Amino acid sequence: MANTTATPVLLRRPAALTSAEVAALNGRFEAAHPTEVICWAVEAFGDDLCLTTSFSDTLLVDLAVAVDPDIEVVFLDTGLHFAETLDTLRRAMVRYELHLRVERPDESAPDLFAVATEACCAARKVAPLDRALAGRRAWLSGMRRDDHAGRSDTPIVQIDRRGLVKVNPLAAWPASEAEAYATERDIVLNPLIAEGYASIGCWPCTQRPTDDDARSGRWAGSTRQECGIHR
Ligand code: SF4
Repeated sequence: MANTTATPVLLRRPAALTSAEVAALNGRFEAAHPTEVICWAVEAFGDDLCLTTSFSDTLLVDLAVAVDPDIEVVFLDTGLHFAETLDTLRRAMVRYELHLRVERPDESAPDLFAVATEACCAARKVAPLDRALAGRRAWLSGMRRDDHAGRSDTPIVQIDRRGLVKVNPLAAWPASEAEAYATERDIVLNPLIAEGYASIGCWPCTQRPTDDDARSGRWAGSTRQECGIHR
């Protein structure tokens, strides 16, 4: 009988860098400006590199398009974003003329945010990101060590669960320098930041500034801090 099992969208591939090379790069980039990290990534991976952003701001986008104006910018449209986030995307498109790729969940993806957030994120974020990264060798993310305690040891270069090289150029950038850059460049900001939102994701799971545990950012009443796309 023929095997009718669907082929997974992504199979783990051999890492493009050895663990020794990853360690050496992290040592080299620990005190480097994000632009130096991005230049290395663009040089190393060319069109096999893309960038992901949730459009809380355009800090990473601003840095990356200055190096490679054609870099593909991936946005995971869960269907549950704030209108302010989609407006931030539109303003970024106007300013940067982005090579944008919007990845959406399957039409059959269930609305599980009220009962099973892990499964909801798996369908609305993780699976679409897997599709966006299929065929890539590397991706840029905007993770920072000061996002929250769980990210305090974020490396600048790592190998993700797919075997792809994940580059976090902002991971070790001092907040004061990032803020100065953002001001100087007048980057595009999600207006919810000015309203006091600690972290901006899908509207059902984002803590309002007036919520009791608003500083946790997401998933009220839960210890969850990550949606699963950064594994
Ligand atoms: S953040 Fe919330 S609404 Fe968005 S995909 Fe995850 S569980 Fe679903």
